[in-house]
Amino acid sequence: MIQMRKLIIAIDGPSGAGKGTISRAVAARMHYRHIDTGAMYRGVAWKALREGIDLSDESAVAVLAARARFDIGEDYVRIDGHDVSAAIRTAEIDAAAAAVARQPTVRAVLIERQRAMGAGGGVVMEGRDIGTVVFPAADVKIFLDASPEERARRRANDPAHAAGRGPSAIQEVAAALEQRDLSDRTRAASPLVAADDAAVIDTTALSIDRAVERVMELIHGRLRSANC
Ligand code: C5P
Repeated sequence: MIQMRKLIIAIDGPSGAGKGTISRAVAARMHYRHIDTGAMYRGVAWKALREGIDLSDESAVAVLAARARFDIGEDYVRIDGHDVSAAIRTAEIDAAAAAVARQPTVRAVLIERQRAMGAGGGVVMEGRDIGTVVFPAADVKIFLDASPEERARRRANDPAHAAGRGPSAIQEVAAALEQRDLSDRTRAASPLVAADDAAVIDTTALSIDRAVERVMELIHGRLRSANC
């Protein structure tokens, strides 16, 4: 049997573009590990808030990021042994994660850890800067996008993010999403941008299945062209 090379697949894009669902499905089809790097920024923010560390104290947050033990599974996230799967999906952590993600020293720590996790291949890594910074030589680079209205609608309907929100959920979510997008796209350290060689897929009017098929076509094309 021909042993296929284990690829590094980078999936980037803004919140609500479908990264989580699509990356998870692609990883399952490939029998690869799925790594959600957003959960790491969220975990660091959660731990900093819990320990009363000022989020703007970049060196203290970076030390915390370097010491934290992450255990990111398919359906759970643990940090230093605490199951934070639900606790990191709140509006407070949305904003706190985007704030710590602006800090170059914190990013440097997490990027190094992400490189170590993906170095052997066989990974689908999702985030904002995987194809541009973490693995600029990734075998397959995808940038998922969708209209701001559709992304807000998806977020407001996502049970993991919607807890405790009232009928004005969509407006609240849209405003918070816009803030976070602006922060992610305009920060100096690894801003959210599609890599020049990424395939951009607009999921606004695409079903999950169709989007997963598109990504699988790109992966198979890559495997054929590399003959691996
Ligand atoms: O993907 P998710 O919404 O969980 O990410 C939370 C935050 O973490 C993002 O708003 C972004 O600021 C940051 N992030 C990042 N780089 C990544 C992944 C996430 O800056 N690779």
